[in-house]
Amino acid sequence: MAKLNIVKMGDDMLRRVCRPVEQITPRILTLLDDMLETMHAADGCGLAAPQVGVLRRIAIVEVEEGEVIEMINPKIIAFAGEQQESEGCLSIPGKYGITKRPKHVTVRAMNRKGEIFEVSGSDLLARALCHEIDHLDGKLFVDKVVRYTN
Ligand code: ZN
Repeated sequence: MAKLNIVKMGDDMLRRVCRPVEQITPRILTLLDDMLETMHAADGCGLAAPQVGVLRRIAIVEVEEGEVIEMINPKIIAFAGEQQESEGCLSIPGKYGITKRPKHVTVRAMNRKGEIFEVSGSDLLARALCHEIDHLDGKLFVDKVVRYTN
């Protein structure tokens, strides 16, 4: 595994729409491993491929230690409710702000074996899923901040 550089806001890479993964290759698997190492090293709870300079629809989330959710081509298929909580981003160090997000979301994605799965989450997990999937469409949390908290 290798730790990758995290792209920071201002880099055009973070504003592009990522391409779907057509086939799970060894490169994709290595990328998933490297993204996990990078996220752990940065003490984050989520990371999307464009944040490490790869414009593919891949993201990982880990809001409970050890419960890593790897998502390839993820899509929000259901959402409900609303929450307004503080959010940050490894690509925007030191900035935190309140965003409006659904309280519950269900995501459909592919895992590293190419199997389709669904994951549902509430509160922090829902926020993290929305935040990472936004990255795949070039959207950042600062686009939807209601109020900065620092
Ligand atoms: Zn982010």
